[in-house]
Amino acid sequence: MLTNDQLDKWDRENFFHPSTHLAQHARGESPSRIVTGGEGVFIEDRDGNRLLDAFAGLYCVNVGYGRTEIAEAIAAQAKELAYYHAYVGHGTETSITLAKMVVERAPSNMSKVYFGLGGSDANETNVKLVWYYNNILGRPEKKKIISRWRGYHGSGLMTGSLTGLELFHKKFDLPFAQVLHTEAPYYFRRPELDMTEAEFTAHCVAELEELIANEGADTIAAFIAEPVLGTGGIVPPPAGYWKEIQRVLKKHDILMIADEVVTGFGRLGTMFGSDHYGIEADIITIAKGLTSAYAPLSGSIISKKVWEVLERGTDENGPIGHGWTYSAHPIGAAAGVANLKLIDEMGLVANARETGAYFNEAMRTALAGHAKVGDVRGEGLLCAVEFVDDKASRRFFDPSAKVGPAVASALLKRGVIGRAMPQGDILGFAPPLCLTRAEADRIVEETRAAVTEVF
Ligand code: PLP
Repeated sequence: MLTNDQLDKWDRENFFHPSTHLAQHARGESPSRIVTGGEGVFIEDRDGNRLLDAFAGLYCVNVGYGRTEIAEAIAAQAKELAYYHAYVGHGTETSITLAKMVVERAPSNMSKVYFGLGGSDANETNVKLVWYYNNILGRPEKKKIISRWRGYHGSGLMTGSLTGLELFHKKFDLPFAQVLHTEAPYYFRRPELDMTEAEFTAHCVAELEELIANEGADTIAAFIAEPVLGTGGIVPPPAGYWKEIQRVLKKHDILMIADEVVTGFGRLGTMFGSDHYGIEADIITIAKGLTSAYAPLSGSIISKKVWEVLERGTDENGPIGHGWTYSAHPIGAAAGVANLKLIDEMGLVANARETGAYFNEAMRTALAGHAKVGDVRGEGLLCAVEFVDDKASRRFFDPSAKVGPAVASALLKRGVIGRAMPQGDILGFAPPLCLTRAEADRIVEETRAAVTEVF
């Protein structure tokens, strides 16, 4: 067996880690952890630590770690047939079964699912399909995509552009010109303190209407958004937001892409976030929870309305020129089928709703009164604690103060993994959907202790 020193050396010499301060990592200044195992909501590392993973990896290990049902389904598929492509009508029993299971679970206006590998490539697919759709409809000018500041849609070229976080643009020459950003529905950071939720919703809607009027509705193809902002701070929308936004989109014939990479398959306590908020999407992006990350797989669920145009397009132009070698990979599909069955059998959607409500309430009760805690918010099994320097005047911390990372690191010392969200002053939680009340209590208790230690 390799020693820790040897692995550490090879890691620094050879491994280009994603979303990492490369120089600090190479100098050995940033924490690194070699993860060796996991069971339920816990992971283990090489140094023998057992940590409660209250972020489910990257909000993806929804059924929890160590589920042998999924491992066995993957192994069986690999033995029978590890790979065949899905081009020109090919498929496997598992990929066809998974497509049926996904469409059955999706909102009733949905028709087909295109499988990719991760959330980023699924959103790249979505933008291409939206452009294709408008070309077939004879409106080649209708191409711009509106996303929101603080939205996260991936880190590819187009999806990195859609992402509304500066970190993902800086020094990469993004965003692309076809992408427009509008206000995030972030009530805690509303421009004026005395605004009600309804007034703030009206303000976000007015911003969107103004953007559309300035650009011209005939140049705008789609609006992409997460039902609850995720990486941008775990922010549920203010009351009435989705109803009003959809009214505007419909009025201007702008398609709605619901990016449900985080919220799909139960995280909000409903199968999709669209079910929770009454969003009638034209395309839904799925990834993470589709396989609980046991194998890479994503999908674009396409509505009947969009599908009809795509079909017509191929009658007029021949086969659609879009595909990945690994679209509908049989091993990913096997993981997906076993995972969706497990979600049903374990009742995880209901657990996310019930334990999620309990967890959010317990976190609010424990922390809302703390002088440096400005907001505790969440929905289902998503929760965020936002820190402020001065509560009464809502004076925010300077991002360089890095209070989120400080609390996350105090929490880690207590055996619990939370995530310091990229903007610096928010601690996020998205535990596996199998979380119990006792585990929820432990996260809350350790968070309270970590916050008290830092402030
Ligand atoms: N969309 C959302 C809402 C996400 O949260 C993420 C990843 O966190 C993505 C897209 C990108 O997915 P991936 O990292 O699998 O490319």
